[in-house]
Amino acid sequence: MIIVMRAHAPEEQIQNVIKHVEDAGFEVHLSRGVERTIIGVKGVSHDALTQPFESLKGVDEVIRVLKPYKLASREFHPDNTQVKVKDVIFGGNTLVIGAGPCSIEGEDMYRDISQAVKASGATLLRGGAFKPRSSPYSFQGMGEEGLKIMRAVGNETGLPIQTEATNPRSLQLVAKYADIIQIGARNMQNYDLLKEAGQTGMPILLKRGMAASTKDLLLSAEYIMSEGNDQVILCERGIRTFETATRNTLDISAIPVLKENTHLPVMVDPSHASGHMQYIQALSLAAIAGGCDGLLIEVHNNPEIAKSDGEQSLLPEQFADLMEQAKKVAAAIGRDI
Ligand code: PEP
Ligand code: MN
Repeated sequence: MIIVMRAHAPEEQIQNVIKHVEDAGFEVHLSRGVERTIIGVKGVSHDALTQPFESLKGVDEVIRVLKPYKLASREFHPDNTQVKVKDVIFGGNTLVIGAGPCSIEGEDMYRDISQAVKASGATLLRGGAFKPRSSPYSFQGMGEEGLKIMRAVGNETGLPIQTEATNPRSLQLVAKYADIIQIGARNMQNYDLLKEAGQTGMPILLKRGMAASTKDLLLSAEYIMSEGNDQVILCERGIRTFETATRNTLDISAIPVLKENTHLPVMVDPSHASGHMQYIQALSLAAIAGGCDGLLIEVHNNPEIAKSDGEQSLLPEQFADLMEQAKKVAAAIGRDI
């Protein structure tokens, strides 16, 4: 259930409603908008329980949320959520472009790529230190050594760093070094990991699972948010279909669908969606036109020898060209980069 307060309801009325809800034995989640405060009440959906709150002073309406996710729903938080990480804001008018290699492979390599993507306008650095590879024989990442390299280069460039945690153990390590913790497609429904990610209170970038619906994705976001962490950024990264020309199929419709149903920022990863570097520019431009809040792009200075995902990595100069095109499409829809 959510209790929508009247516009500019005074604080004592808000506190009075909260007290009534808590006295009735329920937990409160507050969402303060510019005009209205919305009081989310966990676990109440029965009519008989909603009625006592309708007559309290300052209450505009009491809505039963029928969706299985509540904190992530637009009903609970009508305004877009903005997640601020250092100077970068996800979910604002300016798109966030994150770039970097699939895996951290060494310090010089990571520094060179990071400086190049920064020079082209990237405002976020990506890179994997713990890699969830489909084969146990593939490169599994540099681990903590990789995190140290990322942190050092993040500090040098002044850009926030985003990297993946693959299990509760690596989560604790990643939380020590990273600015944004990435939960990958293969872990989208690892509920213990989601709960622990929620408990860190840190910004979490949650990728859509390969066979997950947008509703599944929002339910996974709800797991993080129900731990009291509303710093959640969603990422569409392609889903499995019968098409084999691309590694996955980028679900462009997920962008407007998510935008309608949730207030959380929506990023798009055309690299993992397509699996081939020659399609990344087209998909990036389509995603921007479709209303995403930013892109995550894999960039490598020598894709042929990359330890992971070389075939879908852009060269720094290809990334620079993509940025120029992206700015034009963003400008056409009134957004900037
Ligand atoms: C990645 O970002 O390198 C990655 C492994 O992504 P995904 O979880 O989307 O496959
Ligand atoms: Mn990758």
